[in-house]
Amino acid sequence: MGWIERLGGPEGVIAGILAEFRALSARPHSSGHEAEEGAYLLARLERLGLSPRRDGAGNVTALVPATPGREGRPVLILQGHMDMVCTPAAGSGFDPRTDAPVPVVEGGYLRSDGRSSLGADNNLGNAVVLWLLEQGVPHGPLRLIFTVSEETGLSGAAQVDPAWLSGADFLLNTDGFHLGVAVASSSGGRRETYARPLETCSPRGQEAFVLSILGGLGGHSGDDIHRGRMNAARELGALLRGLREAVPLELAALEAGSSYNAIPAGGWAAVVLPAGRGAGLERACASFQEDLRRWYGAQEPHIQVCARRTPLPEQVWSEPCARDCLALMGSLFDGVYAMHPRFPDVVGASASLGRVCVEEARILVQSFVRCAQQEDALQLFTQHDRAAQSAGFSLSRVHSYPGWPGEADNPLLDTLCRVYRRETGREMAVTAVHVGLEPSVLGEKNPKLHMASTGPDILDAHAVTERAPLASLPDYAALLAGTLEAL
Ligand SMILES: [Zn+2]
Repeated sequence: MGWIERLGGPEGVIAGILAEFRALSARPHSSGHEAEEGAYLLARLERLGLSPRRDGAGNVTALVPATPGREGRPVLILQGHMDMVCTPAAGSGFDPRTDAPVPVVEGGYLRSDGRSSLGADNNLGNAVVLWLLEQGVPHGPLRLIFTVSEETGLSGAAQVDPAWLSGADFLLNTDGFHLGVAVASSSGGRRETYARPLETCSPRGQEAFVLSILGGLGGHSGDDIHRGRMNAARELGALLRGLREAVPLELAALEAGSSYNAIPAGGWAAVVLPAGRGAGLERACASFQEDLRRWYGAQEPHIQVCARRTPLPEQVWSEPCARDCLALMGSLFDGVYAMHPRFPDVVGASASLGRVCVEEARILVQSFVRCAQQEDALQLFTQHDRAAQSAGFSLSRVHSYPGWPGEADNPLLDTLCRVYRRETGREMAVTAVHVGLEPSVLGEKNPKLHMASTGPDILDAHAVTERAPLASLPDYAALLAGTLEAL
């Protein structure tokens, strides 16, 4: 008999998981505001007969003794994050600090009531784990870890005491979005901010213009980096460097992109030219727009490059500031650096110029480097640090987490694949992702762990339309139950 039947059939499984999920969703729990959620988890784990603990960061752990007779089995850690990206719907009045998401079931999906994102990422995986523990599935020695602040740079996982991981053999992370897909490697990340004091002076030219590049698709700096989209910050830098070869152009302002995490979809700069050179500028923008449209083709149908007159500013950037900032925007690596050595369809290393702006009289240039392997990371970091140094910028802020390169032979993956085939009749796909996942941070604290990440189907995570098809829940529960039993 398969695990779905042993757990009471598909309806029973879905109802059990939904009840657990509703209870987990009953209070606000966006990143950095998980205190009440953590308290609920402690109480819930106590009701399961466990003695959970919470660390100073808010992470929760509990040991689950093996089913009698299975004490000598390998130690498995089941791990998920308790925080969510709580996105309110425009005009809903929903306040992520005080309002809890309201799960509803509609048309075969678990979704929110439309006022916020759902938080199935990652509480649906957590709900399955908690529900299975109550069902008496046989298992070896288990540890549970529920982290905080995953969605804000994996920072809860970074604070987990290595003792919570030591001596364990396997770690199964439940923070996946695709049933039937096991992730075996993820990228490390380094969010870099390079800074340089802004020096200004009076303009020499007489005519001022705002140049803008607009209409890019943008996208996620990891998930979308291989799609050949325009990086508007990078192109703005190229436009300005090209113009400066033909005309003495002074820079009065520059702003492109919005965060490390997004490919810049637009940007603008205020420039000052000698009298009478404005007509040439408009022509140059039109021809740059043509170049961009030809280069990006159907991928980027809405690119616009325009110039419009603006009042003459009182100050412009000093010549070295302008020259060096534009040089750095061109010399930081941008795009796909290497594909993954074991998953050739997945990007293994990339960098994305994320934002250029002026804040508190400093020019900031921000980039996000992502690498599964340390070798690529070191090469890109070195290239970036050299480029910044020669442009007079210094690394003023950096936040990084390690990559999870994965292993050629991973017994946890073998078990997951075998159980999934047996329980569903389908093959499990094994892949890598080019974003950050908590196993990368946790695995660094115990390099002997064999790790994998797999979750139920979740669509549009972090968006108001976030939803999970109920149909994937029984198979996911059967996968976890079968894996607990088999290890
Ligand atoms: Zn997640």
